[in-house]
Amino acid sequence: MKVAVTKEIEVGENRVALIPDVVSRLVKQSWEIHVEAGAGEAAFFSDRDYEQAGATIVNDKATLWQNADIIVKVSSLKEEELPLLESGKSLVGLLDPLGQPELIQQLADKGINTFSLELMPRTSRAQSMDALSSQGNIAGYKAALLGASALPKFFPMLTTAAGTIRPATVFVIGVGVAGLQAIATARRLGALVEAFDIRPEVKEQVQSLGAEFVEMELQEDTTTKDGYAKEVSQDSKQQSQQLIAQHVATADVVITTAQVQGKRAPLLVTNDMIKEMKPGSVIVDLAGEQGGNCEPTEAGKDIQLDPGITLISPINLPSSLPVHASQMYSKNISTLLQYLVKEEQMQMDFEDDIIDSICLTYNGELRNQRVKDILASKTESKV
Ligand code: NAD
Repeated sequence: MKVAVTKEIEVGENRVALIPDVVSRLVKQSWEIHVEAGAGEAAFFSDRDYEQAGATIVNDKATLWQNADIIVKVSSLKEEELPLLESGKSLVGLLDPLGQPELIQQLADKGINTFSLELMPRTSRAQSMDALSSQGNIAGYKAALLGASALPKFFPMLTTAAGTIRPATVFVIGVGVAGLQAIATARRLGALVEAFDIRPEVKEQVQSLGAEFVEMELQEDTTTKDGYAKEVSQDSKQQSQQLIAQHVATADVVITTAQVQGKRAPLLVTNDMIKEMKPGSVIVDLAGEQGGNCEPTEAGKDIQLDPGITLISPINLPSSLPVHASQMYSKNISTLLQYLVKEEQMQMDFEDDIIDSICLTYNGELRNQRVKDILASKTESKV
């Protein structure tokens, strides 16, 4: 099987889908790996590193993709890359299926077989291939660092000859992968951390990191069978808003990471809550690209709000740590390649929940119901 590692063309994307170490392991298992010249440059992996790992460097993308069986990417396909793909090829990456359903339909029509890592079920069997988790860890880590550096205060408690400094309070909303890593990082920096999530099962994880779980009893089931959060009812929303407001008002840094897969991010921190915050406090909203957890969020922008609040909504944080982000992503991709391909053949067993979930398009067919639904609702709204 020939695998092509492509140079990402998304603006600001520094990651690469396979790093030389992982290429070397795949080559030893008889995979043929071709790498586009400069593919690893932004993540500090040179063409020479790839050659030493046993890969072949290819200068132009069109030749690379033409000669490959499987093309591995990090970020989603761009319109201009579509003509480079020929029928029968397989494409693996974070393909943003719910964000660009039309492009996915075009891939199906062209006979491209696509596998989207965003659709990986959150099960222990799939854990080593779960790229949203590996990359979410990085985002959570960076969110805590951004909050610490924008805060006009220390995070840790300090006892010095110049007096005693009280530790900062960090309130994390949404305790999934990014939230847990934000808690762990803020704790390592010495802050007092509180955290809230609608899934009560995360309480023990929060406490094991030395943080306090802000508890609320909900009268409904909040987790899907795939391990993701469900959208909660209006009643539960109102109940949680009161609790969130109390903790937002006393926090120095609020880090929001709440999401419900495939939906707009829940709006949790309102303008009224922000008005009650302490001057100098900071909010880091990781959900900006999904519409934001805070009312005034604008994805990719830092905003100054009354009374002296900084609201940061970074995009693509994993790309700001490209060495480890690529290393972790490579592990996800290589495990998936070995899972999909057995004895030089793709194992398209749709009885297998992992393959069934991640395979978006196959043999000219669009397989994912949520993408179909989005396309259907767009067609309806045009009529
Ligand atoms: P995740 O699914 O693991 O975690 C989301 C958490 O939000 C879950 O624990 C869920 O229970 C919780 N949640 C859902 N609705 C809630 C509500 N109403 N109140 C409180 N909690 C609620 O997701 P993740 O991988 O941790 O990612 C979190 C967010 O960070 C997502 O929006 C993701 O897109 C974003 N993210 C951003 C970047 C970036 O660079 N900006 C990078 C990675 C992830």
